[in-house]
Amino acid sequence: MDSGGYEVDLFVDPPDHDLICIICRGVLQCPVRVACHHIFCKKCILQWLKRQETCPCCRKPINQNLMFVLFKLSKSIGRLRIKCHNEVQGCTATFPLSDEYLHISTCPFEWQLCPHQGCGARALRKDARAHEQSCPHWRQMCPMGCGTVLSRATQAQHNCYRQLQQRYEAQRQTHRAIAAALRRKIMRMQNTMAHMRRQIGLICESLEVTEEPERGENAGEGTSASAAGSS
Ligand SMILES: [Zn+2]
Ligand SMILES: [Zn+2]
Ligand SMILES: [Zn+2]
Ligand SMILES: [Zn+2]
Ligand SMILES: [Zn+2]
Repeated sequence: MDSGGYEVDLFVDPPDHDLICIICRGVLQCPVRVACHHIFCKKCILQWLKRQETCPCCRKPINQNLMFVLFKLSKSIGRLRIKCHNEVQGCTATFPLSDEYLHISTCPFEWQLCPHQGCGARALRKDARAHEQSCPHWRQMCPMGCGTVLSRATQAQHNCYRQLQQRYEAQRQTHRAIAAALRRKIMRMQNTMAHMRRQIGLICESLEVTEEPERGENAGEGTSASAAGSS
């Protein structure tokens, strides 16, 4: 039968005889009293009643509607000190029975299944970190949020942030080189233009020297022609 009570061996001090369930031989868990005043674990007596409807102690008939849960007794059993069920693994803690769940949730000697998919290894909570560091199934999303799933092998090389920075730096250098080339080209053009301007200036000067007297003659002709016309 599935045991309803607490294992006697768990208790630091041997529990009182009155606290033992006669059906499961364990310490009463959720104790109920039946009409004949005998006390059992609730689970134990309900399972018993499926087969026979008499008290396992005194054989008197049991009425399921006349069963009372003994809350006070349950509470005082909860105050009894027990040992951690991980004692074999090395836990030496003792605590009130009612705090068992609290202790187990942080017990360093509780077995834990490796959370990484496909691993299946078991480690004590205190060794979980060490296992995680060497777990071949370790996987993690890139903490920089690039969406890459990292494994032990790829984690060391992966640095999307640095790659992005390098790409950005490379681009900036290309842009700087292009800007410098453009500046040089503009300087060269400006030099050429200045040289051309000087050349044009010289050409103009030489033209002015040869043209000037001609322009004077034309002006004289013009005035004389207009004067002739008016008279
Ligand atoms: Zn029981
Ligand atoms: Zn009885
Ligand atoms: Zn423990
Ligand atoms: Zn693992
Ligand atoms: Zn990344």
